[in-house]
Amino acid sequence: MVERHPTRYLGEEYERLVRENLNWELKVLESACEPVCLVDGKQVIMLCANNYLNLATHPKVVEAMIEATKKYGAGAGSDRSIAGNMDVHEELDRRLAKFKRAPASLTFQTGFMANQGLIPQLCGRGDLFVSDELNHGSIIDGVRLSHADRAIYKHKDTEDLARILEEAEKHDPPYNHIWIITDGVFSMDGDLAPLPEIAKIAKEHGAGVYVDDAHGEGVLGEGGRGIVSHFKLSRDEVHIEMGTFSKAFGVIGGHISGGEDLRNFAYNKARTWLLSGAVPPGVAAACIAAIDVLETEPEHVRNLWENRRYFLEGLQDLGFDTGNTETPIIPIMCGKSKTAKDLADYIWTQGIFALPIVYPMVARDKARIRTQLCAKHTQEQLDKALEAFKKGGKNLGLI
Ligand SMILES: *Cc1c(COP(=O)(O)O)cnc(C)c1O
Repeated sequence: MVERHPTRYLGEEYERLVRENLNWELKVLESACEPVCLVDGKQVIMLCANNYLNLATHPKVVEAMIEATKKYGAGAGSDRSIAGNMDVHEELDRRLAKFKRAPASLTFQTGFMANQGLIPQLCGRGDLFVSDELNHGSIIDGVRLSHADRAIYKHKDTEDLARILEEAEKHDPPYNHIWIITDGVFSMDGDLAPLPEIAKIAKEHGAGVYVDDAHGEGVLGEGGRGIVSHFKLSRDEVHIEMGTFSKAFGVIGGHISGGEDLRNFAYNKARTWLLSGAVPPGVAAACIAAIDVLETEPEHVRNLWENRRYFLEGLQDLGFDTGNTETPIIPIMCGKSKTAKDLADYIWTQGIFALPIVYPMVARDKARIRTQLCAKHTQEQLDKALEAFKKGGKNLGLI
């Protein structure tokens, strides 16, 4: 008989990760997520949160969560598919559709669950997924859960995408359904998917377009409506717009927008929606309030972009390589993993919190520090961060 130990490998695998410098070291946030936070007992300027518009602490959003919790309780008591579909959930679906100017939306518990639940239902045997090589892990997992064929195109490379679709036309028997899936904003570089070109290629082949706009919502487009609005595309060109309430919206939750048929299909088929609890009513109410804030207080999106411009120019004036960013995600390219880790350690000593992003999240020679701006950073805070990057960058020979 083979000698087995039920759990020893767990510890061994963790030790391997530590040895190879691939383990996560968790930091603990001891305050609200604001431009200046208390992290591991230290006051730091937060430069790596997804809370782009500071809605996590917006009084209207917080108040809505408290009020709905008082009225409906802490939890919904069930899955939405059974008995937990409260009127606040339905109102959130409608409010989001209106904000997105889509016929219908459906909200999920998280963005990850939206991708993991819906994607495998879109294609099965005899169908094809075509996916950008740098797509988010929740898309990769969603595609893996399906029985469809899959093809990966080079990052943002529409020639490669067109070639794959030409090739797919030769498939015998012909594919029934083809979906092209892409992130809208790529989270490691802050660059945008070439969505108009993707939509054009898709149209030539009768393929669907699915965009995951997690980092684009509340950031891009008219009033933060996202990447579809940014490129002024129609619902005939982008068929599924997926997103999250956990980033610029400052709360938590996933969502999809598109036709009424999409909504009906999704809540009857996506297993993460059917078989998992509804988000607490307070969460749904807070998400509605966040949409309200986006619709009525345009200054937050404006301030975010103004901060982004200021910080990016500051970094570029110092001589840093900021990659291909087009959004408030700004990478500071460092090359080797060790350089990125050393720079992150140094800025931390200066009261700046931003994480190094290293292999395997990015290629071995593309390690970086990823910074993310928010609407409420003050110029003084950004100057302090620039000063820390300047000193650290000089010490490490980056500038
Ligand atoms: C963050 C993110 C998700 C997951 O969203 P959650 O709501 O946090 O689960 C999905 N896709 C992309 C591109 C993301 O950046």
